Amino acid sequence: MDPEYITLVKNTEICKNCKNIVIGRGDPNANILFVGEAPGRNEDEQGIPFVGRAGKNLNELLSKVGLDLEDIYIANILKCRPPENRDPLPEEIRAHTPWLIEQIKQIKPKVICSLGNYATKFFISEGNVDLMAKQPGITSVHGKIRFVNIGGIKVKLIPLFHPAAIIYKRELTPLWEKDMEIVKKEVKQSKKQKKLF
Ligand code: URA
Repeated sequence: MDPEYITLVKNTEICKNCKNIVIGRGDPNANILFVGEAPGRNEDEQGIPFVGRAGKNLNELLSKVGLDLEDIYIANILKCRPPENRDPLPEEIRAHTPWLIEQIKQIKPKVICSLGNYATKFFISEGNVDLMAKQPGITSVHGKIRFVNIGGIKVKLIPLFHPAAIIYKRELTPLWEKDMEIVKKEVKQSKKQKKLF
């Protein structure tokens, strides 16, 4: 019998229509977790998050600050691709995020970088999907660190623009690079902490 969080995902319409459930990739002991929105066409085909254009851009942006996709763990709010890459629906977020919370409990990251509006609003709402619509958008909160409690775990949240948005709005690149300096500092700090304990 599937754990309850897997059954919840499998029962959603988008799961019945997708090729693969996209769980996550990277280092399961990473101090830093990146969370995107939902798998796209390439991710759906391969069953791996951020392998398409947005992933390529994310890799390039990470490498500029000396990070690699393999140094982090990366997952999404939704585990299945919505048709035509439409926005996630609240009931889909409600059904898919218990699995994400389970991943957070296992990985125990010190820092979560939320990519784009949906992931950011989910974490600022501390997992309460009903509160998401009231939250400020990524343009006003990107790069501003706050502590959030998610699934009983206190983590530092760093909201970032979605790498796909940067492909279309190249003018966001300097803002992303500035935000990544904050991420880099946090990664360094969390590595030091790991050595101490
Ligand atoms: N965009 C996302 O948010 N997630 C992916 O896995 C790919 C593109």
